[in-house]
Amino acid sequence: DISQESYCRRNEISVTGGDVPAPLTSFEATGFPSEIVREMHQAGFSAPTPIQAQSWPIALQGRDIVAIAKTGSGKTLGYLMPAFIHLQQRRKNPQLGPTILVLSPTRELATQIQAEAVKFGKSSRISCTCLYGGAPKGPQLRELSRGVDIVVATPGRLNDILEMRRVSLGQVSYLVLDEADRMLDMGFEPQIRKIVKEVPVQRQTLMYTATWPKGVRKIAADLLVNSVQVNIGNVD
Ligand code: ADP
Ligand code: MG
Repeated sequence: DISQESYCRRNEISVTGGDVPAPLTSFEATGFPSEIVREMHQAGFSAPTPIQAQSWPIALQGRDIVAIAKTGSGKTLGYLMPAFIHLQQRRKNPQLGPTILVLSPTRELATQIQAEAVKFGKSSRISCTCLYGGAPKGPQLRELSRGVDIVVATPGRLNDILEMRRVSLGQVSYLVLDEADRMLDMGFEPQIRKIVKEVPVQRQTLMYTATWPKGVRKIAADLLVNSVQVNIGNVD
């Protein structure tokens, strides 16, 4: 049972930070565009998951977030929906580079994130491309050169493309580190730090992780500013 009510009953939601907004417990309460709300109902979703209910209002305020929640809790839309709103308000020229950057540990996860972005973003004409290793760079570079709002990338491949100077992150104002614990386990920390150096300091940063070990705490402390921590489930 992943409903908001069930987690509340079991006292498994904790939010740490100043002036935390109340959770948004229905899609209608979010103020998301009606086409997107309709899309969520059509997907068979009846209400936001706990991580969505808690993190949407915080992210919509433009604040940095660390969200700790286990796999399958709906984290992807937890950061994509506020990303869509961010794009409505401050979309840059996609020809000059993406506005939204999502880092993900693997090709499979990156492709799944892109699929959700396309599914829920198409009514808002949001474009999204995926950069990952183990595949030729040519098609990825061609997609990039057409201009995109959202780039979902594995750290290794994005670094290669940055070194080739084929993408600029100078317009990114919304940065997501998805599955941060897994990215660190896979040894991506140096690449992540190099990538973040290319992203303007004036940005919103969101970090999603299933666990909260020391390495993740350190990188969160280095990359996030005044973040609100949302903890769902029995994580220490
Ligand atoms: P996580 O990243 O936390 O592992 P995902 O974002 O991949 O979880 O979501 C897991 C599944 O739940 C996906 O199939 C997704 O489409 C679905 N999902 C997302 N939001 C909701 C919701 N509000 N209600 C029901 N299912 C949802
Ligand atoms: Mg996920």
